[in-house]
Amino acid sequence: MQGADLDGFTHTGLPVRVVFGAGVFEHLPREVAQLGVQRVLLLCTPGQRSTAARAAALLGASCVEIFEGAVMHVPIESARTATTAARAARADGLLALGGGSTTGLAKAIALETGLPIIAVPTTYAGSEMTPIYGLTEAGVKRTGRDLRVLPKTVLYDPQLSLELPARTSATSGMNAIAHAVEGLYAQDTNPVVALLAEAGIRALAQHLPAVIERPRDLSARSQCLYGAWLCGIVLGSVGMSLHHKLCHTLGGSCNLPHAETHSIVLPHAAAYNAGAAPLAMERVARALGVTEAPRGLFELAQRLGAPLALQRIGMRAEDLERAVDLATQAPYFNPRAVQRADIRNLLDDAFFGRAPRSY
Ligand code: NAD
Repeated sequence: MQGADLDGFTHTGLPVRVVFGAGVFEHLPREVAQLGVQRVLLLCTPGQRSTAARAAALLGASCVEIFEGAVMHVPIESARTATTAARAARADGLLALGGGSTTGLAKAIALETGLPIIAVPTTYAGSEMTPIYGLTEAGVKRTGRDLRVLPKTVLYDPQLSLELPARTSATSGMNAIAHAVEGLYAQDTNPVVALLAEAGIRALAQHLPAVIERPRDLSARSQCLYGAWLCGIVLGSVGMSLHHKLCHTLGGSCNLPHAETHSIVLPHAAAYNAGAAPLAMERVARALGVTEAPRGLFELAQRLGAPLALQRIGMRAEDLERAVDLATQAPYFNPRAVQRADIRNLLDDAFFGRAPRSY
């Protein structure tokens, strides 16, 4: 379908209250009260301690504890420790303040306890708009979908992203764009998702360069956060394909950083699927303002100063074959058949940082 035709489709809107705008962080007490939450467990990473302290000050007595142990890919041990902390503090709600790692930790607790989540995202990862959770045990990351982990309320305050470093902003923005690109050729895509995806890519592609040049440009930050929100809805609404499968595999098996991996692999995955998803690629290209989507994605990453080669973010050449094995083992939907030799070419290009080829 690739998102454009009206031959018949299904769309389920997910029930999340979104409060968007510079300064909405100050509305936290009102939003917590509106959910009927009286005992908040506040989650963050050590790096976001000072923003967490501001949130705790705003919440006063209703913030019963701060847990600052959020870690990338939600190791099961940290999920268990945080769940124990939530129970010990008799928390009746979770506040996830940070990027996808912190939201992921809140989701892991919610999965066990059913506690409602209020998310205040500070990156462009989009996890706050999805019912998808991930947990890593013994080096293997498993994911699942459960509406219990979907945040009830999300506060998008671009002021909180002013300190997000340029490199993280670039890769996190490319991560968001990846959700939209795959949403456009998803098996269950639909016209609403296509609109959101195209608008999300456009907002990020147009305004990420300004964020890289002027990280404290609030207007550019607002546009990027808006784009990230739209891309997050896409991720939460439809299934993902080859690109997300590859990044999941590389993240789990080679322990590569999440957003960087997405940023590097995306142009190559788009190139792989371009011939099988022409309408989706037309929309991506239009949103990027270019004629050819895969090359446009590669050039955007280049312009943003994002890493272009997996070998530069910690992947070893000897891991390539195993990554190909893992990515081609279990069947999953992709607009084009997943062929081993071509996946090897794709990963080689991404490994060395070459421009995407035509398949
Ligand atoms: P992250 O949450 O790990 O954050 C990266 C680093 O940036 C952290 O050290 C954090 O403290 C710091 N940081 C975050 N916001 C900041 C800010 N505004 N200013 C300064 N520093 C800031 O990275 P991420 O890319 O947001 O999330 C990645 C994780 O999210 C992965 O584990 C991924 O699997 C998961 N994820 C899940 C979903 C889903 O739907 N379940 C979607 C996207 C990502």
